Amino acid sequence: MPLYSIFGEISEKDFFKQFETQESCMQWISEKKWQNGFVCRKCGNTNYCFGRTPYSRRCTRSKSSESATAHTLFHHCRMPLPEAMKLVYEICKNPDLSSRKLSSKVEIRSMTCWNLKKKLFHCLENGGCDNVFGRI
Ligand SMILES: [Zn+2]
Repeated sequence: MPLYSIFGEISEKDFFKQFETQESCMQWISEKKWQNGFVCRKCGNTNYCFGRTPYSRRCTRSKSSESATAHTLFHHCRMPLPEAMKLVYEICKNPDLSSRKLSSKVEIRSMTCWNLKKKLFHCLENGGCDNVFGRI
């Protein structure tokens, strides 16, 4: 499994500062997701306004709205985003670490670690970071 730099060059200290709250995680995901601009999945329009929920975007033509996490790795993520981020960070740093070791390191259930790891690897193998952030 090649290493993907999902977070770019970031120190552990900066990492925990950046991903401290659910909101800062959402903001970061939305920036990554729409880094090349917004394109409506329904009609292809590139004009948007902000949606009802934080960091969501709404197409000005079809009125269809998309949340920051939709179509990304973090879609339907049941754990708090700061925890999910921490987990993804640890997996990227050491992709070969077993789910059990990972689990004790981040203090998240082993099954949860395993599931997210599987999902992350699936994304990375099928489109890399573009797939992780729903850009394809
Ligand atoms: Zn549209």
